[in-house]
Amino acid sequence: GKAEGRGQISVFQPAMAKYAVLQLALERELRQALALQEFRLVYQPQIRLHDTQLIGFEALIRWYQPQRGEVSPIDFIPFAEQTGIIAAIGDWALDEAMAQVQAWASAGLPVVPIAVNVSALQLSQLDFADSVIRRIRRLPIFLQDKIVLELTESTLMQAQSLQSLQVLTQAGIAVHMDDFGTGYSNLALLSRMSLSKLKFDRSLIQNIPDNHAHQQVCRALLDLARALHLEVVAEGVETMAEAQWLNAQGVQYAQGYWFSHPLEKEQAQRLLV
Ligand code: C2E
Ligand code: CA
Ligand code: CA
Ligand code: CA
Repeated sequence: GKAEGRGQISVFQPAMAKYAVLQLALERELRQALALQEFRLVYQPQIRLHDTQLIGFEALIRWYQPQRGEVSPIDFIPFAEQTGIIAAIGDWALDEAMAQVQAWASAGLPVVPIAVNVSALQLSQLDFADSVIRRIRRLPIFLQDKIVLELTESTLMQAQSLQSLQVLTQAGIAVHMDDFGTGYSNLALLSRMSLSKLKFDRSLIQNIPDNHAHQQVCRALLDLARALHLEVVAEGVETMAEAQWLNAQGVQYAQGYWFSHPLEKEQAQRLLV
């Protein structure tokens, strides 16, 4: 009855109010973080498995907040997506990656492509593709293929997102499918998208030399990748045994702690030779 209802309210309200206050604080801090330049990108090497040559970097965002210390993207990216501020953060990340490519080229270094993560909200925005194309076109021509985009299949739930993807790939921008093999895949759709690479998710790769079920899934996904003429990057490779197994199966590329953790830009630069 009534007493029960009041009871529920008195139990829930303080917690919800506290959560709302936390959210407001975080949203304000994320806006400030952009203004105060508290974000930076770190760069995780992607290598060719058969000779461990560097073929690219994935740019991963880092936030150093003076009071909180380092905040993991896992703790703020989902929230940034809910509030919409991911659009501004994503713009910042793309501009920062482009600036890095230019800085390395200006220093006479052999630049490899940098993959920038794109969130669902960004891709669903009407002007996203045109804005990305416009900005990449401002790079010297020989650097325009040095920015690639990483997105997950779950970002493609809206018609506008598919439209954005098509506009981007038709403009010649390479798009890699992230976290592949984790969820539902629309194979018909996949075959119609002009992707450049598939990134096999870490959850599939982990302990693969000892996991018969994962081996079978991995082989099936590799057949699929071959049928679609897509190269594969294995993510989250942590051991030599994993790297060897993947190489033996014909996986072309890998990324993971076995080869390198994400690196600060100065360390990443030393790999460009
Ligand atoms: P993701 O795109 O799947 O990125 C790979 C994550 O796995 C990174 O975590 C990376 O540091 C971590 N990782 C790499 N190798 C290994 C390994 O061998 N073992 C293990 N256990 N982990 C490995 P990170 O940097 O904490 O990023 C987490 C997620 O946050 C990313 O997952 C991505 O979804 C999101 N994120 C990061 N930066 C950005 C960004 O600039 N924009 C957007 N929209 N999302 C971002
Ligand atoms: Ca990624
Ligand atoms: Ca991933
Ligand atoms: Ca992920």
